Amino acid sequence: MASPSPHAATATVPADHLMGVYSRAQLAFDRGEGVRLYTAQGEAYLDCMAGIAVNALGHAHPKLVEAVKSQAEKLWHTSNIFRIPGQEALAKALTDVSFADVVFFTNSGTEAIECALKTARKYHTANGHPERIDIIGFDGSFHGRSYAAINAAGNPSYVEGFGPTLPGYVQLKFGDHDALKAAIASPTTAAVIIEPVQGEGGARAVPDADLRDMRALCDEHGVLLIYDEVQCGLGRTGKLFAYEWSGAAPDIMTLAKALGGGFPVGACLATAEAAKGMTAGVHGSTYGGNPLAMAVASVALEELSKPELLEHVNDVAGYFVQQLEGLKSRFPDVVLDVRGRGLLIGVKLATNNRAFMQLARDQKLLVAGGGDNCVRLLPPLVITQEEAREALVMFEAACEVARASIKAEDASA
Ligand SMILES: *Cc1c(COP(=O)(O)O)cnc(C)c1O
Repeated sequence: MASPSPHAATATVPADHLMGVYSRAQLAFDRGEGVRLYTAQGEAYLDCMAGIAVNALGHAHPKLVEAVKSQAEKLWHTSNIFRIPGQEALAKALTDVSFADVVFFTNSGTEAIECALKTARKYHTANGHPERIDIIGFDGSFHGRSYAAINAAGNPSYVEGFGPTLPGYVQLKFGDHDALKAAIASPTTAAVIIEPVQGEGGARAVPDADLRDMRALCDEHGVLLIYDEVQCGLGRTGKLFAYEWSGAAPDIMTLAKALGGGFPVGACLATAEAAKGMTAGVHGSTYGGNPLAMAVASVALEELSKPELLEHVNDVAGYFVQQLEGLKSRFPDVVLDVRGRGLLIGVKLATNNRAFMQLARDQKLLVAGGGDNCVRLLPPLVITQEEAREALVMFEAACEVARASIKAEDASA
């Protein structure tokens, strides 16, 4: 059958003139302050998703606002043709607090992933092993939406319809140690990529012992270990980096989301050894690491690294989980499981998670969705216990409504 001409009008133009890749809630916000978002009509919502783990310091944090303002008046962009002092300062700060020696700055998590995967393959080429191209990933993971990122994560619904899947990506079952052991031993394996706590997949934490085993297996076979901490990193789990809980450091790690506290910026961190193939001319970015992004991210990192903030995350997270466990026992017909780490909390539901997100919004509470029929609570890390209590009251009210709808369904069945 001949393909129709692209000029043949078979599609309708959407009213919002946006590509229809999101099914959006019918809700828009006008301003934010701390953990609250306000509509143009002045309705307040309690934000327990923080722009999907981005606004870690809450909305309109005075120090971030000041950083944007003062840098905006000085210099926005010059290009990576020149030295960028802000990049050097932030790279020093990031390497001081992590396993890493070097950093490449990007504008998003996906771009950080792209850099991580390229760095891994280049490392093996630099070592005289260009045949080592395979990236081992896990089901339920999310690494972004570029071709490499969707192939690394392997989620069929993200890959389908975009042409053939790329060679060099191996997909394993989350937690299948034997399969991992076999795959790592292959002479064409380049790297393993894993989120220490899966975000989009539904707040599934990798057991610390598994990360340590993975580290040992990678070392044994000369394979690089990549952690995607775009979502779980930078304080979200109660340590600055999620991998710190296990003590098993990666060779390469991606960051984004909280790094700019809402300003778009990402980073690929690596040891000098893992990055040895990343020489002049092999990679780059026009905007990555621009002075404006660096100014904001430097302030955000300083705030996120404060021991008192991390302690606060652990305290509030403990409170959330304890209270959610209580809800689970009072609403066993609605709440099936509470999981995750720190303030990356997943609540697995018996009712449809998308419908539950609307029930939460009806209570003026914002929660994120997640795989495995979860909703995720990803509040700003600065949320107080009082605000957490407020969120839990709304969450419980949503559970009540969900229970009533389950009962109504049962009665009609
Ligand atoms: C959000 C996310 C990404 C992609 O980041 P973008 O900024 O949307 O490109 C990659 N990995 C993980 C774990 C994420 O949560």
